[in-house]
Amino acid sequence: MSFTVAIVGRPNVGKSTFFNRLLEQRKAIVDDVSGVTRDRQYGITDWSGKTFNVIDTGGFVHDGTDVFEVEIRKQVKIAIEEADAIIFMTDSAIGITDLDEAVADLLRRATKPVFLVVNKVDNNNRYLEGTEFYSLGFENTYFVSSMSGSGTGELLDAVTALITEEESEDTVRVGELPKFAIIGQPNVGKSSLLNALIGEERTIVSDIAGTTRDTIHTHYKLFQKEFVLIDTAGIRKKSKEKDDLEFYSIIRAIKAMDEADVCLLIIDAEKGITAQDISIYSLAARKGKGIVVLVNKWDLVEKETNTARDYEKELKKRLAPFNDVPFIFISAKEKTRIFKAIEAALQVFENKTRKISTSELNEVMLKAVESYHAPVVRGHSIKIKYVTQLPTHVPSFAFFCNFPDDIKQPYKNYLENKLRENFDFSGIPVRLFFRKK
Ligand code: GDP
Ligand code: GDP
Repeated sequence: MSFTVAIVGRPNVGKSTFFNRLLEQRKAIVDDVSGVTRDRQYGITDWSGKTFNVIDTGGFVHDGTDVFEVEIRKQVKIAIEEADAIIFMTDSAIGITDLDEAVADLLRRATKPVFLVVNKVDNNNRYLEGTEFYSLGFENTYFVSSMSGSGTGELLDAVTALITEEESEDTVRVGELPKFAIIGQPNVGKSSLLNALIGEERTIVSDIAGTTRDTIHTHYKLFQKEFVLIDTAGIRKKSKEKDDLEFYSIIRAIKAMDEADVCLLIIDAEKGITAQDISIYSLAARKGKGIVVLVNKWDLVEKETNTARDYEKELKKRLAPFNDVPFIFISAKEKTRIFKAIEAALQVFENKTRKISTSELNEVMLKAVESYHAPVVRGHSIKIKYVTQLPTHVPSFAFFCNFPDDIKQPYKNYLENKLRENFDFSGIPVRLFFRKK
């Protein structure tokens, strides 16, 4: 199991400052998308050789005492449920407040280890003032300045002493598993698919924290393969406020997409592909995400011999130019081919990490160039000398040539098709660059 540390405390005590300090060394994943619904941030970090997840439960707590209490209770509850250790942060400049007392009460009953952290201890005076926090009665009490970093090393030594080698290794491993997001418009069958997968009881390993509370990450194990499925919070429990639904479902889809390696884009077989589907698809492609198209509710379609093939052909036309993606015809309701969908996503993930040696690449691609040269432009012939794969996240290829600006789109398409014919980049939006040699 991986190890997770949660940071709780009332607003303004310095939780985000501390969180950011922890994560900056590792340049983690936190992106604060417009702040609309940020109420939990998640990251992965390490200290003295131990890797662990950090959740900042902070974020928006509305002012006004009642709401305050309720929100803080929620925060602490999340921390107790999801974390293996809790950092309870307070502010030495302000002293003990009622809310601190309330949080302390809740945490005293928790069975997880709690570290009381008295923050903003920037100087000796603050330290003297801060000693009043001992009265809260926590065995592990630390005095730090998140701003300058003083005292944080000692705190982290104590926290990481709780983490076993195995937990640390698991945290790293889970962090590196393929991440899939289920996306699609309302009513295409996202929750049905999720439930079909969840229905397979033993497949779930654990729920792990998403970047925000809008996404839920679930660690699965199917056919000896492991992956993390990201779904948006709205999927399992549907929002009752219909007007918000559309707007938030788009925001959430984008968040889930950002966190994913491969997007499982679901479309409704009866409705066919809509303009919205196409814009989600293009967005995923632009972001360099792997894509699998799942045509759901296939049980409702009357089928003849070539129905699936014809359907796929028709869809591919609409998705052009990038349409080298797997199409899987599923029924979430009848649970048909849902494992095939997962297998396809795993294959796409593998394609995304594919590295081709320069010699192999040149052997194939220079042959393609020989058999069909780029058209002559302004009287000069274009010579592509060699090709190499760039060390990037999204498979990218640099073609070195004499007049890079004179290579037109149709020829680029030709080269991309040749690349795809020879190497499996199904589901991956590859990038081609042309450089002066
Ligand atoms: P959060 O609401 O608990 O996440 O608190 P923030 O991290 O946003 O911090 C609230 C304010 O306290 C910000 O203005 C920070 O710059 C400030 N702050 C955080 N840590 C320290 C510290 O160690 N010393 C001082 N003097 N200020 C701090
Ligand atoms: P979501 O909004 O994308 O999460 O869609 P839901 O999973 O809630 O499904 C919307 C409706 O489509 C529900 O009434 C489902 O029962 C139905 N549905 C989902 N998948 C299938 C399927 O494979 N076949 C059929 N016939 N109906 C389905």
